Amino acid sequence: MNERKYDLETICANGGYSPKNAEARICPIVQSTTFKYDSSDAVGDLFDLKAEGHMYSRISNPTVEVLEKKIAALEGGLGAVATSSGQSANLISILTIAEAGDSIIAASNLYGGTYTLFSSTLKKFGINTIFIPLNDEKALEEAIKAGGKLFFAESLSNPSVEVLDIEKAARICHKYNIPLIVDNTFPSPVLLRPFEFGADIVTHSTTKYIDGHATSVGGIIVDSGKFNWEKNGYKSISDKDPAYHGLSYTETFKEKAYITKARVCFIRDLGNPMNPFNAFLTNLGLETLHLRMRKHSDNALKIAKFLESHEKVEWVNYPGLESSPYYELSKKYLKNGASGVISFGIKGGLEASKKWIDSLNLISLVVHVGDLRSSALHPASMTHRQLSSEALEKAGIKENSIRLSIGIENTDDLIRDLKEAFEKIE
Ligand SMILES: *Cc1c(COP(=O)(O)O)cnc(C)c1O
Repeated sequence: MNERKYDLETICANGGYSPKNAEARICPIVQSTTFKYDSSDAVGDLFDLKAEGHMYSRISNPTVEVLEKKIAALEGGLGAVATSSGQSANLISILTIAEAGDSIIAASNLYGGTYTLFSSTLKKFGINTIFIPLNDEKALEEAIKAGGKLFFAESLSNPSVEVLDIEKAARICHKYNIPLIVDNTFPSPVLLRPFEFGADIVTHSTTKYIDGHATSVGGIIVDSGKFNWEKNGYKSISDKDPAYHGLSYTETFKEKAYITKARVCFIRDLGNPMNPFNAFLTNLGLETLHLRMRKHSDNALKIAKFLESHEKVEWVNYPGLESSPYYELSKKYLKNGASGVISFGIKGGLEASKKWIDSLNLISLVVHVGDLRSSALHPASMTHRQLSSEALEKAGIKENSIRLSIGIENTDDLIRDLKEAFEKIE
């Protein structure tokens, strides 16, 4: 299929797979670790990256490739690598660029897992992270001047639902010739395509909306192919790699240098690919993504308005609300809906928040977001409990913050559940 000819809705349903005569209409699960070849030279060429093809499912697999092609097309990128989790996608998106001794820049309102990956684990790899406030032009310029080799931020942050000004960030990054990586998990490519605003690399936790049915942990990295690694002095990508007989990724793979290196260096060596069964399930979810994102967004806006009008609610953050400081940015970046996540605070602090969550009936307490079923969570005591109180504040999380992930159920039913829980607290 030539995805470029089609709209998002058509790509969701048909992208990445075109069966030939009498082949399965649905992409089969190729549950095979390995692939058979007729000659040793053919296998040698695969190892030397002279030929394309699957040889071992740690590096690539036909079912996973369908998902990679579809998501690359949805984002408008030219290649993608699916990983075992969103964490792996973010880790590899960085390692493909930065090495021990380098610094990277990240917005401080990241998802808790990514924050600890950067602040603690990457430090053990010798990579230092400079955290800066979101949408702070001056801080970004200073961090670049201090040596930051890339800027990483979430398009819509988890859980504070703050909107990244992608165009502004890209303009500053490109003025100083560094790449912009955007974690686009919350909007999904249906609501926002960061490449259209200048981002260079996009990552996702496919675990969330792309799967959407809470069945499969996974992640993906998508390359726009637009950043010039060689010209901008990214030697880790342009220099000859001794692990491949002195091949240079930029010379051999041109605009696909980054995404090829991510796969053949890091997925190969660290061993964190997506598996074919998860790719099959994730793709099944992805087929209806455009329908779900619309419904998640419509429902969340209704619920956010209900919460805003409730006497027991102290504050509500949802970028689709006119009262939100991110409303103007959301009109630019999230025109078709602001996704399904709301964060809000209950009057009465920690105890009232916990009691409220425990009193929900239909909406379930789960450590998840982006499922088609509604759920609630208390970040300070759950997903973000490893963060210091200072880091929590910088991440936009208060003691009474509740993250609501609004599903695709009937909103009257959801509002009744919310109301009944409010009645249980003082
Ligand atoms: C969940 C999440 C991740 C991590 O993804 P996993 O699939 O859980 O490893 C990264 N970024 C964002 C924005 C997320 O919501």
